[in-house]
Amino acid sequence: MTLHDNLARAAALKLPSHAVIDGALVAAKSGKTFANTTPRDGSVLNQVAECGPEDVDAAVKAARAAFEDGRWRLKTPREKKKIMFRLAELMERDLEELALLETLDMGKPIRDTRSIDIPTSINSIRWYAEALDKVYGEVATTPAERLSFVVREPLGVVGAIVPWNFPLHMACWKVAPALAAGNSIVLKPAEQSPLTALKLGELALEAGVPPGVLNVVPGFGESAGQALARHMDVDLIAFTGSGEVGRKLMVYSGESNLKRVALELGGKSPQIVFADAENLDEAADAAAWGIFFNQGEVCNAASRLLVEASIKDAFIEKVRARAGQYMPGDPLDPGSVAGALVTEGQMKRVLGYVEKAKAEGGTLVAGGSRVRAESGGFYVEPTVFANIKNTDTLAREEVFGPVLGVIAFKDEDEAVRIANDTVYGLASGMWTGNISRAHRVARKLRSGLVWINGWDACDITVPFGGAKQSGFGRDRSLHALEKYTELKGISVTYRA
Ligand code: NAD
Repeated sequence: MTLHDNLARAAALKLPSHAVIDGALVAAKSGKTFANTTPRDGSVLNQVAECGPEDVDAAVKAARAAFEDGRWRLKTPREKKKIMFRLAELMERDLEELALLETLDMGKPIRDTRSIDIPTSINSIRWYAEALDKVYGEVATTPAERLSFVVREPLGVVGAIVPWNFPLHMACWKVAPALAAGNSIVLKPAEQSPLTALKLGELALEAGVPPGVLNVVPGFGESAGQALARHMDVDLIAFTGSGEVGRKLMVYSGESNLKRVALELGGKSPQIVFADAENLDEAADAAAWGIFFNQGEVCNAASRLLVEASIKDAFIEKVRARAGQYMPGDPLDPGSVAGALVTEGQMKRVLGYVEKAKAEGGTLVAGGSRVRAESGGFYVEPTVFANIKNTDTLAREEVFGPVLGVIAFKDEDEAVRIANDTVYGLASGMWTGNISRAHRVARKLRSGLVWINGWDACDITVPFGGAKQSGFGRDRSLHALEKYTELKGISVTYRA
């Protein structure tokens, strides 16, 4: 498949534009639409239904009705599994289309959407379908003449609010376990990237997910998102996004029905390279990939590189040499390893951090500029700064772009102190050949994930989520089901 083929296929695509509410593809009740643009060249892709509070209310009502009459919740596990498997098959059938939609919508390279985003999303649906009849309740230790057991029941109506950096992938991390647990869902995709979520809603109907069980409401955060999070009949908001919006969601919950809130937020993840690492070339590969994959728009991006002072200069040179491999190209070109940043605003924000890092005394080692401006799209070079202090803005704030800050440390204690000196706690990692050090440091790092001699080395079997201001609640693994279920204790008293 060449760039030329992809351009032709993209031009022939039918782009989803309607909300999915109660089993129907509908326009917003107000008739409003918003222009959905592509960061590839800044052009308008299509007009998408702009859902507001009245559409969200209709979606929540449909979800509640579906939950109450049990059209999904009360299906046998075998039936639910069959339908979820069918959904995965349909996503596989339409993999190329989904990959194109995702690439056009948010600018990531087609080679990643084809090989990572869409396959991973399909895997989530399958994994939770397989899991749904393998999770058992408990029998409690009770006095004689009483049998107490503990069951997990679906919560009811789940509001899922997701970001634009992995649009379908993040949606499936929530939709799959929520469906497997028997809930009804109202999914609000990010306004920058609604297409694959809308397609997911359509495919779910085709697969046999009953009407009202998975509703998709495209629209803006302050209107559709807020209406969902303030709704009196939503039981949980499962959110992935920024800390700023996470804070608002907790307020909305407190000011409405005290719905549960689960937050997967940002990070400023440290990757520590000790001088005793067995393979510094592999570590340098991981340092570059950890920050430049997905244009750095990754919540667990390894945005702080902590390097032992004795190897600092040689290691920075290795990373600099690799940065060029992530030079952005046309996202539709199968040869591109990096694509565009999601919006012009995001690009400006990233370039603003570059300027700030320079002003605060960082040494620019690679990149630092916009590229491919003639395309009309929003591309930034892979950028590396040396001589960053952990007090610098680049080390404190989430940039969400391809900008790496390198910080030197003198010994293990200092490495741990710097790594933990952040409000975030999503992921951290280290490279060392010393097994005792690996275990010792892993236990001291305050983050939801720790990777030793590898970066982002895990999959759906391992819970994903953060400590501190990176949020609470977990996606992935069987633990994700805890978020979408309520524990109920039932006791039977009988005559012995
Ligand atoms: P964002 O918080 O701006 O938006 C996320 C979603 O929230 C969007 O759907 C948006 O429309 C909605 N929203 C915005 N304002 C709202 C409001 N007032 N009420 C309800 N909903 C509202 O985040 P973003 O810019 O789309 O995504 C980037 C952020 O997501 C980064 O901070 C990143 O670290 C984080 N992220 C975290 C994870 C994780 O798993 N921890 C994964 C991916 C991204």
